[in-house]
Amino acid sequence: MKPIVSICAFLVLSIHALSQKTVLLAKNLIDGTGKIIANPAVVISDNKIIAIDNKENLHLSKYGNGFVIIDLGDYTLLPGLIDAHVHPDNSSDDYQVGHLRASSAAKTLTGLKAVQDLLSEGWTALRVAGDEDVGFANLEIRNAINKGLFLGPHIYGAGHYLSVTGGGGDINFISYEQKIIPDGLIVDGPEEIRKAIRTEIKNGSDWIKILVTGAFMTTGDNPQNVHFSPEELKMAVEEAGRRDVPVMAHAHATEGIKQAVKAGVRSIEHGSYMDEEAIDLMVQHGTYLIPTLTIDLYFKEKLADSKALAKAIALAKDSREGMYEKLRLGVKKGLKIGLGTDFIGWPANYSAREFGELIKIGMSPMQAIQAGTIVNAQLLNKDKEIGSIEIGKFADIIAVKGDPLKDISELQRVKFVMMGGKVVKNEKITNP
Ligand SMILES: [Zn+2]
Repeated sequence: MKPIVSICAFLVLSIHALSQKTVLLAKNLIDGTGKIIANPAVVISDNKIIAIDNKENLHLSKYGNGFVIIDLGDYTLLPGLIDAHVHPDNSSDDYQVGHLRASSAAKTLTGLKAVQDLLSEGWTALRVAGDEDVGFANLEIRNAINKGLFLGPHIYGAGHYLSVTGGGGDINFISYEQKIIPDGLIVDGPEEIRKAIRTEIKNGSDWIKILVTGAFMTTGDNPQNVHFSPEELKMAVEEAGRRDVPVMAHAHATEGIKQAVKAGVRSIEHGSYMDEEAIDLMVQHGTYLIPTLTIDLYFKEKLADSKALAKAIALAKDSREGMYEKLRLGVKKGLKIGLGTDFIGWPANYSAREFGELIKIGMSPMQAIQAGTIVNAQLLNKDKEIGSIEIGKFADIIAVKGDPLKDISELQRVKFVMMGGKVVKNEKITNP
């Protein structure tokens, strides 16, 4: 046993040893608040940003000694990216059966790999929208990262999604004699919701995810149906709120969106069939919308022939045009739209496709970048810590080679990643 202990101790030590005093130099800085700063010098001590100076006129001694200077030349610095809707334990083609094939321990390992891959493509914070796992794999991953056992992104979110019997989190394609554990937590009636929420929070969920309407990817339910009653939604928001935990509501049908907003959820996920009244209600209540557009692209481009996903692919195709039209209206009306991809285990750099889709719904490139940085930090209620490059925040910083305001696809080619002051990737050195 002795050598194993000392190897583990070395790994932990080596992670901490990477913390240092660093200065990042670049051509431009898009800070996340809407500002562009030329010739930036970002001064970092341990895991925090302590100053943003100008590289042409830099007197480092005023910040102390021992800085390592990383000169990123003509690159552009941006805040670390935030994806507000991911499922790291899933893989693209085994929805609803993945947790039957793989133990929670196996899910933890594949999920850890997925979040580390996402980090190396610039995603420094993730919100998990419940996951397809019997246990709490995604929260175990978060706990291990927070303890310093592994380098990974900030993780927030829910262990599972709450669903009605026969809903989007239930397994509706096997005979009734079979007793298996579905991917969702099946709850019917306010008291079962209360119990499930207490169990989720006890096991570390800092968000509650509830499937208000049917889903695209499940067999045997309809996303146009509203599954939970107003009384059940009221219970969900009240019970979670008692513990200061916000609720994210999966809702496709416009009536489901309206009921969830009225009940007081913090965010609507998807919103595929929303109408203008639903948009107005979200604006009035300050509810965030996370439209998750990348997953539809992924279905279309990579999984068009999947039999298992035939329902989801057909629904996405039918709803897409109408949804984009309503999203354009939402942008005009000032709806708070965050960035979420519905990541289900695709190549990590695919997630940045979401930025291009946000531009298609009428956001400027700057607004799209903000949706995936500061707006999501506000959604998470973590905007004092993450979401922009400002003094006092975590040094979660990325860099791209070109100008993402001119070509948003630069965000699919992130060249440099720093997480809490530690360099995760620097292709400027390896591949200048
Ligand atoms: Zn999802």
